Amino acid sequence: MSKTADAIRSADAHSAHNYHPLPIVVATAEGAWMTDVEGRRYLDMLAGYSALNFGHCNRRLLDAARAQLERVTLTSRAFHHDRFADFCTELAALCGKEAVLPMNTGAEAVETAVKTARKWGYEVKGVPDGHAKIVVAADNFHGRTTTIVSFSTDHEARDHYGPYTPGFEIVPYGDLTALASAVTSNTVAVLLEPIQGEAGVLVPPAGYLRGVRELTRERNVLFMADEIQSGLGRTGKTFACEHEEVVPDVYILGKALGGGVVPVSAVVADRDVLGVFKPGEHGSTFGGNPLACAVALEVIAMLRTGEYQQRATELGDHLHRELNLMVGGGAVTAVRGRGLWAGIDIDPARGTGREISEKLMELGVLVKDTHGSTIRIAPPLVISKEDLDWGLDQLRSVLAE
Ligand SMILES: *Cc1c(COP(=O)(O)O)cnc(C)c1O
Repeated sequence: MSKTADAIRSADAHSAHNYHPLPIVVATAEGAWMTDVEGRRYLDMLAGYSALNFGHCNRRLLDAARAQLERVTLTSRAFHHDRFADFCTELAALCGKEAVLPMNTGAEAVETAVKTARKWGYEVKGVPDGHAKIVVAADNFHGRTTTIVSFSTDHEARDHYGPYTPGFEIVPYGDLTALASAVTSNTVAVLLEPIQGEAGVLVPPAGYLRGVRELTRERNVLFMADEIQSGLGRTGKTFACEHEEVVPDVYILGKALGGGVVPVSAVVADRDVLGVFKPGEHGSTFGGNPLACAVALEVIAMLRTGEYQQRATELGDHLHRELNLMVGGGAVTAVRGRGLWAGIDIDPARGTGREISEKLMELGVLVKDTHGSTIRIAPPLVISKEDLDWGLDQLRSVLAE
């Protein structure tokens, strides 16, 4: 039996089956490439759903992690440590905000944002206790906790996890009129992805984010942007909201913030918002740990130069130019996205997204399907133009079959 089949068989025997991975067993990786246990190489065009924006085993990030590993890795927030202040200062500056609340995973940061908005609603806005409402968009993806799946519209993510957390209002994504009528005096926040990733890389209509910003400002409601996947360079800007020159009240960050090395997430906002928390009212054992801070500080330094954003813009323009040439040529029915990020709808008659992904894997390219017949492309921002073109060639040949 092959090493691959062997590894998959024993993983299946001893793990919960809450994932259906492609049949590849990765052993090592560098930059945009992964090598499996058989020694075969694959171009990673998923990049851990944008957690690997700076590529696998990025030298600068590994060096930062290694140096910190030798010093101190965990203190808990019961004590100060010497990387914490720099991390908060630099991340706040990157966001143009005053304060940072660090957590670990994206879902924890979203939970933190939900708690922030409710507390702000009761203590600052004056909403009667227990009545706060948060408006969210249909087809959202904000994570997997019981509260977050309570406001999901995806049956797979939500069904049989009730009773569900109340206090959320769901409106169609991209529809300002629906949003305006959902906001009441008890609304404390609007929580949105500036581009919906899991839904198939859905870019909202032009002017939507700006409209959300105006509406929330007028109605004294927090605009909370979940930039966990869209942020930190992916779309060609540090934040996807920048494409409409919009600054939300609350940034929710994760994925690439940990450089693909450790989980790091954060909620970033001004004092008048994050100031609602007093000691003991929220926290995390691992949130803001020295190793996480050291890696994230390096990520922030890399983003400050703008070079990754520029790569995402240039390579992204090229990617979308090439993909748009495929639209209507038979297999591809639509392409969406921004920067180095694309959702490609395949004619269902040509096979499911999963089948396309499996065929691409056989040619050495790794992507992920979503919602039946869409595939998602989000290569590391460090990918070379030659490798990107090679990946696109493989896609063309799979679609030509
Ligand atoms: C991945 C993701 C999350 C959840 O992050 P986890 O680290 O998996 O908990 C939340 N929101 C968005 C937009 C995401 O892409």
